[in-house]
Amino acid sequence: MAIPRQMRMARWYAPEEIRLDLVEVPAPGPGEVLVRIGAALTCGTDFKTFKRGHPRLIKEIPGPFGHEMSGTVAAPGAGVARFREGDRVVVGNSAPCFQCFYCQRQAYSLCEDLQFLNGAYADYILVPRRIAEVNLYKIPDALPFTTASLGEPLACVLNAFEKVSPKPGETMLLLGAGPMGVLFVQLAKLHGLRLVAVARDPEKLQNLKALGAAEVVSLTHDADALAKTRSLLNEGRGADLVIEAVGLPEMWELACDLARPGGRVCFYGGCAKGTEVKLDTYRVHYEELQLFGVFHHTPAYFQKAVEYLSSGKIRPEGLVVGEYRLDRIHEVFRKGEKSNPLKLAVIP
Ligand SMILES: [Zn+2]
Ligand SMILES: [Zn+2]
Repeated sequence: MAIPRQMRMARWYAPEEIRLDLVEVPAPGPGEVLVRIGAALTCGTDFKTFKRGHPRLIKEIPGPFGHEMSGTVAAPGAGVARFREGDRVVVGNSAPCFQCFYCQRQAYSLCEDLQFLNGAYADYILVPRRIAEVNLYKIPDALPFTTASLGEPLACVLNAFEKVSPKPGETMLLLGAGPMGVLFVQLAKLHGLRLVAVARDPEKLQNLKALGAAEVVSLTHDADALAKTRSLLNEGRGADLVIEAVGLPEMWELACDLARPGGRVCFYGGCAKGTEVKLDTYRVHYEELQLFGVFHHTPAYFQKAVEYLSSGKIRPEGLVVGEYRLDRIHEVFRKGEKSNPLKLAVIP
């Protein structure tokens, strides 16, 4: 397929102002790969970025954004041996340097020079050399682009999931019913865990129930929601595992409160910088709570995510709730602002 000279690209200009600009299609340099986008997915981060910008993702103005994407190789740059024109791929949105202090310790998500890639809401994206080398994957013909683009969020979720070493038969408490919650529920089911989900939105909780959550509790609609939750966790002892997937200080505290002695708690939801929470040291010391922070993903988790999606073990149903053409990108963000949908697919 011939590559046009110009393409459309959604860029952020100011809070609540994005434009669909016409820009030059970049030519891939040595090691780079030009990908024609097949589908991009919205992420909670995108809606936040739309509202107020983002210190790490929007580095220049206007800034391209969107980071969950898959498509077809349009042109591999010189020296690229792994990919050919026409290959269907999912694009990782970052790559560690493999050289710094943290990379030498295999802590790749802490890389001091983590390279990010944004610009999924466009006709094409230029994948830089480092990402093309370590975080770009071929996908099977039968895997739809909208499903493949779940690679990024699923990689993040796998990173968190493995942090707490879940074992079959354990009870996992999930706080939050957003897109990440949907992925946690599916993973929990695959691993033989009993999952209890607690959130506000009863509709989103029903969605989790349909996907395999054993019990759901609404903080706003159920009477005595916390007592009810506790009674569902190992006869009132608390959960073996807790995943906080909201990113609010009161939920971080609740996550600790609802873990059993010896329980493992993973803080998946990020709070604003400088946020502090109260911690009962008695529980951590005498009751041996184990607390884990987790950020982002690594190429190994991304690869694992692609395997889960390719084999159909993790599915997009109940998660990708709408499809829009790229020229309706403004509508996507208005909808995001108003109703906080799970995930919307943007198809060029
Ligand atoms: Zn994302
Ligand atoms: Zn590094």
